[in-house]
Amino acid sequence: MSMKDIDGLELSPKKAEYIKFFASRAGVKTTEIASKFNVDPSTATKIIAELSKTDLITYTPYYGCTLTYRGKEYANFLNRRHGLIVCLLVDVGMDIDSACEAAGRFEYFVPKMVVDNTCKKLGHPERSPCGIDISSDTCCCCPGEE
Ligand SMILES: [Zn+2]
Ligand SMILES: [Zn+2]
Repeated sequence: MSMKDIDGLELSPKKAEYIKFFASRAGVKTTEIASKFNVDPSTATKIIAELSKTDLITYTPYYGCTLTYRGKEYANFLNRRHGLIVCLLVDVGMDIDSACEAAGRFEYFVPKMVVDNTCKKLGHPERSPCGIDISSDTCCCCPGEE
């Protein structure tokens, strides 16, 4: 499945947060995940096992979790979605910190179609007010592709 075909609702909020975390570097260990998300290591292990069945991550025992190429693309989409929602909320008058926090509570339920249309409406911003690089996600609707 190409990134053009995703609807953005493939992952639960928790799994999407894990994917974003794995984007920081290769070889993220279960213990790091447990401490980052304040969950039991067995919970982290269970979610990793589920994510391993997708084509988004690879898990290597004693090394940890690493995003696949497709996983990196998906992480770029997740970051772009967050960034664009923050752009939108700031555009309608919210302050940056509140917008960033509010986006984190509902961004996982916003379909890719809405994200792409927001991108168009706002003139394809390259960076969110909270510092997210929006342009690194090339799966969208940005100028040149239209
Ligand atoms: Zn933010
Ligand atoms: Zn765009």
